[in-house]
Amino acid sequence: MTAQELRRKYIAFFVEHGHAEIAGKSLVPENDPTVLFTTAGMHPLVPYILGEEHPGGTRLVNYQKCIRTGDIEDVGDSSHLTFFEMLGNWSLGDYFKQESIRMSFEFLTSPQWLNIPIDRLAVTVFAGDDEVPRDDESAELWRELGIPEERIYFLGREDNWWGPAGQTGPCGPDTEIFYDTGMPGTAESRPGISDGKWMEIWNNVFMQYNKQADGSYQPMERKCVDTGMGVERTSTVLQGKASVYQTELFTPVIASLEGLSGVRYGDSEERDNSIRIISDHIKTAVFLIGDEAGVVPSNLGQGYVLRRLIRRALRHGRKVGLEDAFLEKPAAIVVDMYAEVYPRLQQQRDAIMQELGKEEEKFMRTLRNGEREFQKMLPNLERNPKREIPGRLAFKLYDTYGFPIEVTEELAAEHGLTVDRDGFDQAFRKHQEKSKMDDNQTFKGGLADHSEMTTRLHTATHLLHQALRDVLGDHVHQKGSNITQERLRFDFNHPDKMTPEQIAEVERIVNEKIQADLPVVMETMTLQEARDKGSIAIFSDRYEEVVKVYRIGDYSMEVCGGPHVQHTAELGNFKIKKEQSSSAGVRRIKAVVS
Ligand code: ATP
Ligand code: MG
Repeated sequence: MTAQELRRKYIAFFVEHGHAEIAGKSLVPENDPTVLFTTAGMHPLVPYILGEEHPGGTRLVNYQKCIRTGDIEDVGDSSHLTFFEMLGNWSLGDYFKQESIRMSFEFLTSPQWLNIPIDRLAVTVFAGDDEVPRDDESAELWRELGIPEERIYFLGREDNWWGPAGQTGPCGPDTEIFYDTGMPGTAESRPGISDGKWMEIWNNVFMQYNKQADGSYQPMERKCVDTGMGVERTSTVLQGKASVYQTELFTPVIASLEGLSGVRYGDSEERDNSIRIISDHIKTAVFLIGDEAGVVPSNLGQGYVLRRLIRRALRHGRKVGLEDAFLEKPAAIVVDMYAEVYPRLQQQRDAIMQELGKEEEKFMRTLRNGEREFQKMLPNLERNPKREIPGRLAFKLYDTYGFPIEVTEELAAEHGLTVDRDGFDQAFRKHQEKSKMDDNQTFKGGLADHSEMTTRLHTATHLLHQALRDVLGDHVHQKGSNITQERLRFDFNHPDKMTPEQIAEVERIVNEKIQADLPVVMETMTLQEARDKGSIAIFSDRYEEVVKVYRIGDYSMEVCGGPHVQHTAELGNFKIKKEQSSSAGVRRIKAVVS
């Protein structure tokens, strides 16, 4: 059964059972700044679970695009993707456990629907603890339907409990449905242990308690059901495949990568893994750029995640011999594959290709610069009897050219060299501490007064910093800043002299942001939060430390302590007066506002 047949059947089944089909939403949650992405079909429905009336009624069904960045480390295994689709059905104070479990069972096993043999299924049910009793009701319902006792597993909170979303609110036990892939697994195999034997395909959540501020659980009057079934995983098991990458939702992308690289999928586990990661990340990137929210690569929020995904795909590309730009073909295949289900991707095809191409070019430039330097160092490195690149040199490549340490390691390996990774990490940490100290000093020395002019110049520095990163690349970081009544001075790492065109472009961007009269807003948060949101900052190990973060519209976000204007229009006209060398690999700009 194809994924498209599965989507259709799921919707048809629940519509037959009185559900209204509702449209899936954007990957970027509306009105919820606390999370970056929609992670489940339930996400856009939270207000209705909390009690708001839904125009579609009390029984709903849909399919929803989801992104889980938390699963990124697992991507490449048989079942965890960054982007996936979730089929879901909901009861908003309508049916509860009995009808929900019966419908799930019928849909899964009936010959007319998915026709999965009962002996391939197992379920997990909440085991209960000091606060909430065991979910015997769900277990009994499964037994009645013919799931044998030894295929009903009672597990704790980590596996079989949902919510509340915040400190208080609806929550309850869930029951998860697993499919026996027939793989051998380990001695400890059971549903919930990822060893390849049991694949979780569906989860039914029963919201029956309202957690109170005092920590107690009050039974809810209006109980709700939320379920989520993964399209990719369920297609996999229905097609008798062992991995999501063997379904039609991935095979064309993999075939295209095989064609471009000349690598055959199936020949080497390491290269296969890279191909899987590339496929997953390209698909996620296509859906993000083609989303209703139109995410583009940037250094903030969703755009930052997108940038990281694209760059990670490109890094893995290199591992399978894809050194030049290669995203366009596989991305076009993703658009084709999903054009029927998500017509917006088709409409956004040009924008998707453009953004991917731009980001690819930007990263390639970074890599080229770094590689050139690496080649210069090489003769010396090869004379080193330890055949090891000192950490301080690897760090220099990273710091001056934005060269990822993973790429240095790759290049080293090609020349039979290793990298002193501990040394690199050490240099990295030392640098962070020092920059932090410098920063504090610059702040004290360089900004003695908080006059109107210095305040304006200080805010302009943020715009300049971001614009430099946009034009020259993300390796650009502040190396120093000094502000007087007359001018700002900004030092940053960049290997080459800026061209007149680059200078003009930076000026143009800064003035454009000034004219847009963007609001300047300060928030306080921990350094870890600032980092997760994609702020520019020098990140030490003290992630718990609370810092001030200045956000200029959607354009710049930077950890900073200085004085700022409230609206960028207060800055006036921005002009770069000088661009010169400051020290090796560090450039200096002097600029004014008037
Ligand atoms: P797992 O424990 O395998 O990570 P989960 O418990 O996190 O799954 P749920 O939050 O219950 O999954 O999501 C409901 C369904 O969505 C799952 O049963 C599965 O089919 C699908 N799903 C969840 N995470 C992913 C993912 N990263 N990639 C693909 N499908 C997923
Ligand atoms: Mg999970």
